[in-house]
Amino acid sequence: MAILKVARMGHPVLRQKCAPIDPKTITGPEVQGLIRSMFQTMVEYTGVGLAAPQVHEPVQLVIAGGEADEDGRPTYRVLINPKVTVLDEDTRLGMYEGCLSVPGLRGWVERPAAVKVEAYNEKGAQIEFTLEGFPAVVIQHECDHLEGVLYVDRMEDMTKFAFELEADRFHEQELGDEEGEEEYEDEE
Ligand code: ZN
Repeated sequence: MAILKVARMGHPVLRQKCAPIDPKTITGPEVQGLIRSMFQTMVEYTGVGLAAPQVHEPVQLVIAGGEADEDGRPTYRVLINPKVTVLDEDTRLGMYEGCLSVPGLRGWVERPAAVKVEAYNEKGAQIEFTLEGFPAVVIQHECDHLEGVLYVDRMEDMTKFAFELEADRFHEQELGDEEGEEEYEDEE
């Protein structure tokens, strides 16, 4: 287990399409070790999610958070070879996204608010579930990484691209007045 180096925007590993993982190898030492190290790395950098290419492993594996258990403790899903299907293209959720690979910055992105996800979990079992709201955004952000896509590619208004401090100072307040828009500030 190790804290891994996080690739930053500009590194080509973030721009390639990631290879699927052979499901038979999921419970093997290599994939399990990568999952453990990715967890450790995500916790170290206080991320709400992490994709394998962010730690220089261009394979289809993500950890995605944004959900909580009954006691309010954050929970995370490990998703291997995930397939995300948008359930409603018209209902969108906007927020300032952050990314451990784009440190210090935030950008306003609007994404579909509900998705269906099919994947393998860390035990090698096939899973399928739906998500709404913040966790749905996190999953889309993480799965974009597997296609070589960063949140900055999805921004439509570059005046809503800001350093963290300025985003907090000038943008959160202004956007907080708009009804129905939620804001989060987690690195993914
Ligand atoms: Zn990210």
